[in-house]
Amino acid sequence: MRLSRFFLPVLKQTPSEAQITSHRLMLRAGMIRQEAAGIYAWLPLGHRVLRKIEQIVREEMDRAGAVELLMPTLQLADLWRESGRYDAYGAEMLRITDRHEREMLYGPTNEEMITEIFRASVKSYKQLPLNLYHIQWKFRDEQRPRFGVMRGREFLMKDAYSFDLDEAAGRASYDRMFVAYLRLFARMGLKAVPMKAETGPIGGELSHEFIVLAQTGESAVFLDKRILDLPIPADDVDYRGDLTPVIDAWTHLYAATEDVHDATRYERDTAEVDRMTARGIEVGQVFFFGDKYSTPMKATVSGPDGAERPAQMGSYGVGVSRLVGAIIEASHDDAGIIWPDTVAPYGVGIINLRAGDATCDAACESAYAALTTVGKEPLLDDTDERPGGKFAAMDLIGLPWQLIIGPRGLAEGMVELKRRATGDRQTLSLDAALQVICG
Ligand code: ATP
Ligand code: MG
Repeated sequence: MRLSRFFLPVLKQTPSEAQITSHRLMLRAGMIRQEAAGIYAWLPLGHRVLRKIEQIVREEMDRAGAVELLMPTLQLADLWRESGRYDAYGAEMLRITDRHEREMLYGPTNEEMITEIFRASVKSYKQLPLNLYHIQWKFRDEQRPRFGVMRGREFLMKDAYSFDLDEAAGRASYDRMFVAYLRLFARMGLKAVPMKAETGPIGGELSHEFIVLAQTGESAVFLDKRILDLPIPADDVDYRGDLTPVIDAWTHLYAATEDVHDATRYERDTAEVDRMTARGIEVGQVFFFGDKYSTPMKATVSGPDGAERPAQMGSYGVGVSRLVGAIIEASHDDAGIIWPDTVAPYGVGIINLRAGDATCDAACESAYAALTTVGKEPLLDDTDERPGGKFAAMDLIGLPWQLIIGPRGLAEGMVELKRRATGDRQTLSLDAALQVICG
């Protein structure tokens, strides 16, 4: 992409309405624009990050054996009457009436709809286990939308739903999602700690929240800090094998949100030097709730003995749009965002220090072509802004590499390469710089 043709409305001033760093930086870097309280337009730069995150989530869901579909945002109220949640959900649910006076709602989550889809066609244990997921916009009329995309009203969520014949198989499905979550957050450069959690309106007994530690997080958390050093399951983790050793390693160390924190247990099970109190951002949550929806909604399957029983279900959410903010909270400095390579909107920013100068333009174009060919997704600043402005904007938007090309360096056959995360700069030939970038 050439900056002269891109749409990047960066702000020079710090927006006063933003209370936390990620919100400020997302507005300043031209990633989002608020259209109503808690409702945002995703501008091109923000949209690219959102899609990268979504793709990592998708790859890890697929790897763990989940199957993608897409359910609508609007749902019939009657479906929610079947589970009893239509009245229970309260003011967070956005209720809509269509022209035929049919009551509808903008989905805050999809347990009912997926159960309806499941019961229409799955009848036998032979079709299990089944895990279906989608990545779709949700609406929750939050009392206090704030912190930008962190607590929006309209937000993008990945939600997966597992169906099994019995509780043990349901637990195994839960374990697979647990492992997939460890992996997908790590791939985004985040340390997300699974913590015992309350189940809230989704229901059930067993649940973990995945929490990124950050001072601006909304929940207080208590943990054994050794959990921060546990190894993430590798690419070749066997999802068809027994995952309980991994789950045990991650759940035997104490980690709990304030809602379920048990001070007595914490002090009994954790050495004083290992105790850590922090704040955190919930980026995902997994639930096992058995037959909470399948019994009232009559989603039954026949077992090997021919007897019908309600499917055992779990649900698994990831806050895709919240993650954009959470990653920034975890990775920024005074100059701006520092994107981990895996979610960066572009891989390399090429800065042409003298656009219009034939030698500079030619060198930039050749770098641009080479990086495009190898899939490094360069963003070329070919505008006639002053160098200072270009440097500041490039730091602000946080691309992993900056390739700085100017007339003085080129006279000696040199360019400059800067790594955004460390600030390290090196002067080298363009070919050598391209080699470093391509690893
Ligand atoms: P919270 O406690 O933060 O309100 P929740 O527990 O109600 O969230 P879940 O039903 O567990 O949310 O939804 C799954 C994920 O969706 C959450 O872990 C979170 O990352 C994300 N999410 C939930 N509510 C919002 C929101 N208002 N804005 C952005 N992301 C959200
Ligand atoms: Mg939750």
